[in-house]
Amino acid sequence: MADGLFDSPLFKDAFEQLEDAASIMGLDPNIAERLKYPKRALQVAVPIRLDHVTVKTFMGYRVQHNMTLGPGKGGIRFHPHVDLSETAALAMLMTFKCALVGLPLGGAKGGICVDPNELSRQELQSLTRRYATEISMIVGPNIDIPAPDIGTDGQTMAWFMDTYSQLKGYTVPGVVTGKPIAVGGSLGRAEATGKGVAYCINFAAEKLGMEINAKTTVAIHGFGKVGIPAAEDLRAQGAKIVAVSDVSGAIYNEDGIDLDAAINWVKGRKFLKDMPGIKVISNEELLALDVDILIPAAIDGVITKDNCRNVKAKIIAEGANGPTTREAIKHLTERGAFIIPDILCNAGGVIVSYFEWVQGLQNFFWSLDEINNKMHAILRESFDRVVLASETFDVDMKRAALIGALRRLEKAMRLRGLFPS
Ligand code: GLU
Repeated sequence: MADGLFDSPLFKDAFEQLEDAASIMGLDPNIAERLKYPKRALQVAVPIRLDHVTVKTFMGYRVQHNMTLGPGKGGIRFHPHVDLSETAALAMLMTFKCALVGLPLGGAKGGICVDPNELSRQELQSLTRRYATEISMIVGPNIDIPAPDIGTDGQTMAWFMDTYSQLKGYTVPGVVTGKPIAVGGSLGRAEATGKGVAYCINFAAEKLGMEINAKTTVAIHGFGKVGIPAAEDLRAQGAKIVAVSDVSGAIYNEDGIDLDAAINWVKGRKFLKDMPGIKVISNEELLALDVDILIPAAIDGVITKDNCRNVKAKIIAEGANGPTTREAIKHLTERGAFIIPDILCNAGGVIVSYFEWVQGLQNFFWSLDEINNKMHAILRESFDRVVLASETFDVDMKRAALIGALRRLEKAMRLRGLFPS
């Protein structure tokens, strides 16, 4: 059962975090045993014809970790690191995320081991459609509902939805979320993850008695789908964004960067690289800046035991999934940093995905204010619950969030029982 599962540091970390939280809270060991492994994992070959000539095969995956609370939910990642182990770890995180914020959804994740920047638009479309076909038997509005993740976007979801609908013979908008508005997407979904990160930072600042004003400095690692809306919202809250980065490098200005210029630059050119008139620093230097708030919003395993001693930020808001390793969290918490854990901090995305799914099932659409207010309310309540668990069990926010998620899962799994009995 465990073949290949432990190959990635992310799965080992998630597994150990689960064991650790389970022992602190006294989780029923039979429940813990069931949560350690994914319910179902499908590996598929995805052959496509590269711009109509040679055929190349990519490996694809869809992992459903736990579906006690409802259909599986989680993104599809196109990235060269994607493998079974990483996908299983991310599916497990989705189970905990949905449970923590009280959604009637389970946890899943999918992906293809590919660098999407090396494929043409036509090749990406072929890849998405073939992958959708290969996993079509285990997805659907009542089974498992994919969404965008690293390397995928609304267009990917539109192709996925169209392919699934072709197979069914009728339009099935509820098979994915994160779709463009024109094909049944929800207002506010594209910015939801980043906005949710900014809301959580606001709650954390309030808890720490820290006012967000023009002196509050922010560095963002990962200036993309999550980092950009988080930056915009924090600017609206009055903070100063001093550094942002992507895979091509980082830019820094201690007086605050020109956010609109940076956004326009990446819209046109995809990467920050070569943006004129700015100070370039490395990604490692960005992580080590003496700022109030650091948002690792790119990918997992960025703050590790090797560089965590350089990180000076007071608040670390995990915009990405698993950006801080277990050892790094231990060190950062001991030195007094306040970590907003990923399954809470970036949950705005899946919360609005849930709203999109509900709107699609009802064919009745909500206003942007309704969406943002409902998302804010869910995050506020979840944040307060995690703070309470952290005080009750005298543990850091990361462990407290997991305990909150596990409590909800334990209750539901016990009530449903184990089949066959
Ligand atoms: N990929 C996002 C995440 O990691 C969103 C998942 C979803 O909306 O289903 O939370």
